[in-house]
Amino acid sequence: MTKRIFMSAPDVGILEETYVTNAIRSGWIAPLGPDVDAFESSIAEFTQRSHAVALSSGTAALHLALLAHGVKPGDIVVTSTMTFAATANAIRYVGAEPYFIDSIASTGNIDPALLDEALSGLYARGERPAAVLPVDLLGKVADYTAIRALTDHFDVPIISDAAESLGASLAGHPAGSFGAAAAISFNGNKIMTTSGGGMFLTDDAQTAARVRYLATQARQPVAHYEHTEIGYNYRLSNILAALGRAQLERLPEMIARRRHVRDLYRKLFTPVAGVEIFGGDNDSGDNFWLTSITVDPNVTGWPAHELSTALAEQNIESRPLWKPMHLQPVFAQARALVNGASERLFETGITLPSGSVLTDADLSRVTTGIRAFLSTK
Ligand SMILES: *Cc1c(COP(=O)(O)O)cnc(C)c1O
Repeated sequence: MTKRIFMSAPDVGILEETYVTNAIRSGWIAPLGPDVDAFESSIAEFTQRSHAVALSSGTAALHLALLAHGVKPGDIVVTSTMTFAATANAIRYVGAEPYFIDSIASTGNIDPALLDEALSGLYARGERPAAVLPVDLLGKVADYTAIRALTDHFDVPIISDAAESLGASLAGHPAGSFGAAAAISFNGNKIMTTSGGGMFLTDDAQTAARVRYLATQARQPVAHYEHTEIGYNYRLSNILAALGRAQLERLPEMIARRRHVRDLYRKLFTPVAGVEIFGGDNDSGDNFWLTSITVDPNVTGWPAHELSTALAEQNIESRPLWKPMHLQPVFAQARALVNGASERLFETGITLPSGSVLTDADLSRVTTGIRAFLSTK
């Protein structure tokens, strides 16, 4: 059997090996150390934030962001329906209720007009949401200009789920720099990885200290392990931070490679009526994390999943876009304001192999597979 081609496999090489080996040899194993400190300051600088706290996952960063902003049981958190479950799960961890908002069709990001409608409706009923939690989908930053105009008007804090968008930007401002706080993920399939990990970002020193404290079992600063609150074990280990430092050095090169992958697909699909590169032609500010296409079966004569099946036969991975949260059985009872855009994206979109680790030979196998499929249509 030929080698399996994954959608977004980790891209880890000799630089990562060197950094991790050095971290192990330094003796800083258990678990914090100088690589954590250095990784935090590099990410803070990269995202133009005053403070960064390295954590065990992006989900942990979202969880602590909500806690640190005082979100509590029964509160409402307004968020994007087009996302990975982790966003909504974190809202439930603190006992709050997600209110799902549908997408702009071209990006899948939260639709500011619907957000306005939802916030206006809540305020009209005397319900004040505790936070707005937009998601930067697949490496395109949400429309924070429009979102911030609304949250300023309604006086609600923004917590930004930038798990997928490190390295992307909007109007010259980096992903992760928007809102009162932001969460990044370094999971194995993201634009860069620490094998598993995340980062909490803020400009507020007190909030950063609070997140650091909650992530370290809420230990009071005394020798005998005094606790006045429930804490968590959410810190990133020094070894993994070393891996992250190497990855961050290589991030520009990895983004360039993913851009190359996007360009290949764009060239391939431009002549195919009914197939669009998801996100449109405007790549400015993208980190090119994943490249997806949408397929209009009324034009192509074939649905997206047929291409997926054909690629699977060649041992090539592809997947539908995120299934919107308002369609997930676990969130069936949650409130939602929908326009059909995310549901359509779920039905018509597939994500193609997009990883920076893909070789020219891998890419040629994928494009040959796609061409072979198209030639049968
Ligand atoms: C990956 C992801 C997360 C969770 O990050 P983990 O590091 O896997 O916990 C949260 N939100 C979105 C949108 C993601 O894609």
